[in-house]
Amino acid sequence: MLKGKTALVTGSTSGIGLGIACALAGQGCNLVLNGFGDAAEIEALRQRIAEQEGVEVRYSGADLSKPEEIAAMVAEAEAAFGGLDILVNNAGIQHTDPVEAFPPERWDAVIAINLTGVFHCIRAALPGMRERGWGRIVNIASAHGLVASVNKSAYVAAKHGVVGLTKVVALETAEADITCNAICPGWVLTPLVKQQIEARAEKEGIPVAQAEHDLLCEKQPSKAFATVEQIGALAVFLCGPAAAQITGTTHSIDGGWTAQ
Ligand code: NAD
Repeated sequence: MLKGKTALVTGSTSGIGLGIACALAGQGCNLVLNGFGDAAEIEALRQRIAEQEGVEVRYSGADLSKPEEIAAMVAEAEAAFGGLDILVNNAGIQHTDPVEAFPPERWDAVIAINLTGVFHCIRAALPGMRERGWGRIVNIASAHGLVASVNKSAYVAAKHGVVGLTKVVALETAEADITCNAICPGWVLTPLVKQQIEARAEKEGIPVAQAEHDLLCEKQPSKAFATVEQIGALAVFLCGPAAAQITGTTHSIDGGWTAQ
């Protein structure tokens, strides 16, 4: 059903974004990848997805903390493919510290990338979606868009903001064939979480496997990570025809985290 659509997935050189990009390409979507990383590895990734799935894949290195780079990325995608049908706002960073020790520049960076960048992407992509009369926006929020944890003030504020923004965009586009929804993952074993596990192991002087087990047991009742493939499948569903009347919602994929 998504064959021939064009999808931009921010932060898709790694982790969840890459999983979603692969899932959409698997449905026949052309892709714009975005994110940081080694140029040769990104080019190999671009070629691999294009060859495996028989779709066109482009790459933008836009820094999502820079509004002018976001505007250029969306304009380039529209010019190259004749329009942007699906926008997945996924790029994100983390910083942990108690509020009183939280470096203001890290606060600014987390809010800029995890929240303000989402606003700028939607702002840039919506006019084209309205013009063509179809659009799907999927925002990757977090369990931390619904509940809080200590030491994550900027991240929790940004993700709650993304959930609120999702609802507003859904209302403003409700009469067009455009939907805007949020996915709220619990723990997924990506580089972003591996960093937190390694920091915990070092701080507590315990093996990494123990730190991983403790992290899961603390929040995620299933005691298992959600996978990038599961999140990719949910994103595909939200872009598909069965989800045409689903808008302004949050979808937890968190092993029971937010049921507690
Ligand atoms: P990751 O670190 O594996 O990937 C993050 C991606 O964002 C990378 O491609 C990176 O290059 C890109 N990125 C970072 N800063 C950027 C910038 N300024 N401009 C453009 N791209 C940038 O992380 P992940 O775990 O896959 O996280 C993806 C999203 O999922 C984030 O929004 C994160 O908050 C959210 N999330 C992750 C988990 C989890 O457990 N991993 C849980 C809930 C929500």
